[in-house]
Amino acid sequence: MDCPLKNADAAELIIEYSAGKLDSNTAGEFKHHLESCADCRALAAHQQAVWSALDELPPVAVSPDFDAKLYERITDEEQEAWWKRALHVEWSWRPALPIAAASAALFAAFLLKNPFQIPAPQSESQPKPQIEQVVHALDDMDMLKQVGVEVVPEKAGS
Ligand SMILES: [Zn+2]
Repeated sequence: MDCPLKNADAAELIIEYSAGKLDSNTAGEFKHHLESCADCRALAAHQQAVWSALDELPPVAVSPDFDAKLYERITDEEQEAWWKRALHVEWSWRPALPIAAASAALFAAFLLKNPFQIPAPQSESQPKPQIEQVVHALDDMDMLKQVGVEVVPEKAGS
């Protein structure tokens, strides 16, 4: 085995070796390497010192009624969840936020493409353009109707 200190994953290898999590082949190779490499031997010794110090930490005492309290809380949470399901109050804003952001982006894009047309004030002294516009629109509608008749056949009776 090449010295793992020459690779970036040396720390991971030494930690896993000290924790006994390496597969037997790799652990054997590394153990063999330790016999010839003082640097790795020192690192592995330090890591094993950390592990044994962790092992010596006293376990945290658990209160005698821990189980009873835990099951009580689980029951409470389940009943609360049932209430929320029944009242449909579990709704959250969180899933709506991306949709709102997407809607805002679409609206902004729409505004960029179609800026608001501020309607010009139409005074009584300009009736002629309006009539011309109506006639023009009627002509357009006739044209569209002709095209529509060609494309979409009229329903019988209409
Ligand atoms: Zn080494």
